[in-house]
Amino acid sequence: MVTLESEASLLEYNTFGIDCRAKGLAVVREAGDVAELAKAGRLCEGGYVVIGQGSNLVFGERYEGLALVMRNKGVKVVTENEGEVTVEAKAGEVWDEFVRRCVAEGWHGVENLTAIPGTVGASAVQNIGAYGVEAKDVIEGVKAYDVRGRREVEFKREECGYGYRESRFKHEEGKRYVVTSVRYRLSKIYEPVLTYKALADELGEGGAKDAETVSRAVERIRWSKLPKPEDLGNAGSFFKNPVVTRERYEWLKKENPDMPAHETEDGMKLAAGWLIDRCGWKGRTMGRCGVYEKQALVLVNNGGCRGEDVRRLADAIKDDVRGRYGVELECEAEFVRSR
Ligand SMILES: Cc1cc2nc3c(=O)[nH]c(=O)nc-3n(C[C@H](O)[C@H](O)[C@H](O)COP(=O)(O)OP(=O)(O)OC[C@H]3O[C@@H](n4cnc5c(N)ncnc54)[C@H](O)[C@@H]3O)c2cc1C
Repeated sequence: MVTLESEASLLEYNTFGIDCRAKGLAVVREAGDVAELAKAGRLCEGGYVVIGQGSNLVFGERYEGLALVMRNKGVKVVTENEGEVTVEAKAGEVWDEFVRRCVAEGWHGVENLTAIPGTVGASAVQNIGAYGVEAKDVIEGVKAYDVRGRREVEFKREECGYGYRESRFKHEEGKRYVVTSVRYRLSKIYEPVLTYKALADELGEGGAKDAETVSRAVERIRWSKLPKPEDLGNAGSFFKNPVVTRERYEWLKKENPDMPAHETEDGMKLAAGWLIDRCGWKGRTMGRCGVYEKQALVLVNNGGCRGEDVRRLADAIKDDVRGRYGVELECEAEFVRSR
């Protein structure tokens, strides 16, 4: 039986540290709780928000719906052979704890994603990525509850619409699915991914001797660049790195010879942090929200920050970057709309 709390604070359920009040809050401890809530008419579309750890969410002052907090736990091996293992993890598992378990068990493929805040369920929604690896590289399938169809559904990886921080679950149509567990296909054979220069440099020649070493190196780099949410409220990289056409990039490059970029399947990916820094935003504050002094891509809570402070600063940054470079920045963090 799921318990419902009314007029609940979401302060402990978002890493930005915004004190939003939700009309209702329910903690999901097993997949069946989602079905129970749906059948009781508590989950009408547009009237709920699914929360993992709230590490990519920005709340307003009030949420007029139901906050559905995912805390269903469990990790099990589904199939295994000499070279591979398929592991199913429930959506409410803490992502970093799952990664550490994989590293300890010798299940390879997620070590580069060490210390990303959040839950297993959100890894499949966000297609989290870091240091040359994305969740989609190891996801085999996703189980979810379809709130509209009132039934359990399963998606193969190819059906999830994965792209750069992108999936079908992020869009309005996909919000009908509450992810309940994720299946990952991991390798028992260790093959480090060292395509990301900072990671290769940190490890040095021959330094990636095992997944544990890689995992620790990722953690060191990560926390040398980003503020830990427990020290300073934030939602990680606030903007996506924008992708522009090659022509547009060549044109920008003429004016800005030192502009970093790399080629992707969709065009040239620019560094949002560089653009924001060049517009002079690093370390600046606007009301109770600021731009992190060591990394222009991260917006931080300077104390008592509200969703509207974050929105105002994000809009000002977007305007500046558009005005100076003609490039449109898109938020990676999500502003939660109150229906
Ligand atoms: C310091 C810091 C560093 C970060 N570094 C990275 C990084 O390197 N790479 C990266 O990709 N991200 C990074 N992030 C962003 C964040 O960690 C990821 O987006 C993460 O996957 C969010 O997990 P969560 O459980 O907190 O999801 P939430 O923020 O709670 O939710 C994110 C979205 O997923 C939806 N959602 C969550 N769970 C479910 C579910 N079970 N079913 C359906 N929908 C669901 C929510 O409704 C929301 O739309 C960072 C964040 C912080 C604070």
